[in-house]
Amino acid sequence: MICPLCQDEKSHIFEKIGEKTYYQCQYCSLVFLSRSELISPVEEKERYENHHNSEEDSHYIKYLTTTVEKISMIVPKGASGLDFGCGKSLLMEKLLNQQEVFVSSYDLFFHRNEEVFEKKYDFILLSEVIEHLRAPNKELQRLTGLLKANGYLFIKTKLLTSEIGDFKNWYYRRDKTHIQFFREETFLKMSELFHLQKIRDLKDDLFLFRNNG
Ligand SMILES: [Zn+2]
Repeated sequence: MICPLCQDEKSHIFEKIGEKTYYQCQYCSLVFLSRSELISPVEEKERYENHHNSEEDSHYIKYLTTTVEKISMIVPKGASGLDFGCGKSLLMEKLLNQQEVFVSSYDLFFHRNEEVFEKKYDFILLSEVIEHLRAPNKELQRLTGLLKANGYLFIKTKLLTSEIGDFKNWYYRRDKTHIQFFREETFLKMSELFHLQKIRDLKDDLFLFRNNG
């Protein structure tokens, strides 16, 4: 099974859960669902349709605000950014714009404006996105190519750590649209592969990288 992140060909079965087989890459330690066992894009979209990420939902606003505050501490006013995989709502874009950080949004299912790939950005945000990508290698190549020199990449995802314990019952694993799980080591290998430098853990599952390419 080829690793969808680093494309190494050596992976071993990490865990079989019902019909699903998870592999772990020997090189980058990514844990990933067999690519022949993914749900269909139609089912995937339906699941996102049912996410209650409404702009009127105060919990959702609070959840996004945590990320917005962290980004505004790092990037200066007037910076340009891309919210890749924004989902249905453009609320993140709106909240960042209020901080005078100017964001474009893209989503494969809901906001497919390809012109975002024609610009370069001071930063790119992948908020709860990287665990969903069918081809993370391809997407990261494309996205890191859109970063300006020393541009920032913010990645929000739950790391797979030894504290998780029971992988089978981990709520993050049980989401059918989550098809790969990153470890601390995976981030290090990913940084090498995509010419990034891991800067720091910003807490609340948000990690900061800088373009070194
Ligand atoms: Zn790998």
